[in-house]
Amino acid sequence: MRGLWLLLVLVAAATAERRFIGDQVIRVNAESEEQIQLLHALETEETWELDFWLHPVSTELPVDIRVPSSRLSAVKEYLNAHNIPFSVMISNLQERLDEEKAEMLENKIRERSTRSFNFGAYHPLETIYSWMDTLVAQHPNLVTKVEIGKSYENRPMYVLKFSTGGNKRPAIWIDTGIHSREWVSQATGVWTANKIATDYGTDASLTSLLKNMDIYMLLLANPDGYAYTHSDNRMWRKTRSRNSGSMCRGVDPNRNWDAGFGGPGASKNPCSDSYHGPAAHSEIEVKNVVNLIRSHGNFKSFISVHAYSQLLMYPYGYTCRDVPDQPELDSVGRAAMEKLTSLYGTRYKVGSICKIIYQASGGSIDWSYNLGIKYSYAFELRDTGRYGFILPANQIIPTASETWLGLKHLMEYVHDHSY
Ligand SMILES: [Zn+2]
Repeated sequence: MRGLWLLLVLVAAATAERRFIGDQVIRVNAESEEQIQLLHALETEETWELDFWLHPVSTELPVDIRVPSSRLSAVKEYLNAHNIPFSVMISNLQERLDEEKAEMLENKIRERSTRSFNFGAYHPLETIYSWMDTLVAQHPNLVTKVEIGKSYENRPMYVLKFSTGGNKRPAIWIDTGIHSREWVSQATGVWTANKIATDYGTDASLTSLLKNMDIYMLLLANPDGYAYTHSDNRMWRKTRSRNSGSMCRGVDPNRNWDAGFGGPGASKNPCSDSYHGPAAHSEIEVKNVVNLIRSHGNFKSFISVHAYSQLLMYPYGYTCRDVPDQPELDSVGRAAMEKLTSLYGTRYKVGSICKIIYQASGGSIDWSYNLGIKYSYAFELRDTGRYGFILPANQIIPTASETWLGLKHLMEYVHDHSY
């Protein structure tokens, strides 16, 4: 009996989901370059275990930090001692996560009884994968599900291919969820895939685009990470690969591409959330995409969707040097964001990764651009920090709907300029 009890305790401990009781997310508004440097010092202090949702860059941009409850008073003392202004964005992270979980459970029960899929809810990996089969079954002449390989933990990676025929037609790539905790990204991908399938045949410009081009969507670009955010740690960003010589797992899959690999804005430390990995394309999830894009050879646009901050970015991230196509990428991006804003007034900033946020090496759109895919863009979806990564599910459909207007503008432009 005692043995059984011990076993249960051990099992519970092994599967226990990480809790964030009393953890806060604080927003810091540095007022000088000196204060930015002080925040950098805080970030490099590993033992404090701070999770920077937004990194210190300039006095124009806020810095959002998840602070474990045990470090709260020390961090606040540090900020106060240096007169660095801050406010509390999320006062108890676990409360928000509990709300999110309860909502998901309620939704699951509702979906079971109504036998429907709710696009305005967050779903686990298995539900998204089985929904893909439903979409393919509903639109067999347009949508196919293509397995591009397996993840580190052996999960299949599926691409939804929207095509009306032809062989290796010019194509548009869209991936969501490369950073697993940015849940509104994957949810927007699901809504968008459904939108493309249902609007084909009625939306004239989309229909004409699909007459000449294919669209590929990778909804769960980091499947292991996504599963892990549901089972173990909602705040997980990286892949789940083992790092030799370290207890810490995972590589930042958006620092792992062969574009300025290992340069500024990526970490050499396997325990860091921006660890670039042992080599470019070391992550199988990245490699699978690289192989598909290379062997296809006819992608005209590569769009990667993240959250949060409300930005539309183009290359480069690894250098602040302008790309040759900068004026065109900028003006197309601005026109697309005007469309996005037209729906609910949500405002986006447009610029190169390096100039708009920070220098970051090994990013996917730098790689795709250098490969010759001119229209390479990255979105950072809602919001600007009230909820950050824990965007309430009732914002999924509004976010996806406004993003669609921007995306469609980009895709139409690509269509008009790819022949
Ligand atoms: Zn991201």
